[in-house]
Amino acid sequence: MDRRGFLKTSAGAAAGMTVLSALDASTAFAAPRSFADDVMSQHYPFALPALGYAENAVEPAVDAQTMSIHHDKHHAAYVTNLNKALETQPTLHGRTLRELLTGLSTLPDGVRTAVRNNGGGHANHALYWTLLAPGGAKAPGGALASAIMRDFGSVAQCTAALKAAGLAQFGSGWTWLVRDGGGKLSVRGSANQDTPLTDGAKPIVGVDVWEHAYYLKYQNRRADYLDAVLGALNWDAASAAFA
Ligand code: MN
Repeated sequence: MDRRGFLKTSAGAAAGMTVLSALDASTAFAAPRSFADDVMSQHYPFALPALGYAENAVEPAVDAQTMSIHHDKHHAAYVTNLNKALETQPTLHGRTLRELLTGLSTLPDGVRTAVRNNGGGHANHALYWTLLAPGGAKAPGGALASAIMRDFGSVAQCTAALKAAGLAQFGSGWTWLVRDGGGKLSVRGSANQDTPLTDGAKPIVGVDVWEHAYYLKYQNRRADYLDAVLGALNWDAASAAFA
């Protein structure tokens, strides 16, 4: 594609992002489930969802400047780069984000890594924003609470495992509470923007441990960031992902 065509497509993608943000911003943040699920159902051209709440709404766990840069710059860049990677792959334009990430091995060699990194980044952050949404239950309930008790013994042991996996993740990545195909919960880390979806597991809780998620406020203190975020989780959003 020539430069003119590229610019035209990019402008179209950017316009799409603006429209979606305007629509989302006009309604109160009330449905974390649809927020993440809507992103997983997107297909090319992908669009950045509005955060859905104020940038300072998660303080003191996450400061407003980090929230702003993280959503408006980092997440936006994953969306932009995912669109760039797929621009010349019209046969993939009908695939949803979920289909792309669960079918990475079926993608052409030339785009697989870009989809893994940028599609993963788009999906992972969409879930993360719902888990940080202010309000909601501050402890797991219902079926998720029962499953956590069954597989970890207590909520405290589950969050301790999430923290440990976040601390053990060398370099950039995520710590996850996932549900496998048999319904069993477990905790794992992943590198970069790799999503458990690619391995057939469903993300229930995902906490970003890239330095961009915490460095402005916590500098090198990843443990303090993990304590703060794990203590501020919106467990209604986790339950929605579990359902
Ligand atoms: Mn991030």
